[in-house]
Amino acid sequence: MLQSKTLIHFRCHDCGMKYKTGSERAGTQVVCKVCDTIIVIPALKTSNRDTK
Ligand SMILES: [Zn+2]
Repeated sequence: MLQSKTLIHFRCHDCGMKYKTGSERAGTQVVCKVCDTIIVIPALKTSNRDTK
C-alpha cells in the first residue's frame, strides 16, 4: 500500500492534545475535541528560511 499523503502533526496549544491530519488541510481550522479551542493547522515546513 502506497502512502503518498503527507501527515502534519500538531498539538492543541491550550491542552496539548496531539493531532495529525493530511497536509492538504494546512491553514484550516479544527476544534479541539478536548477543550474546544480553535486550532489552526500549521503548514509543513518545506524550507529552512524561517529559522530565526
Ligand atoms: Zn485542547
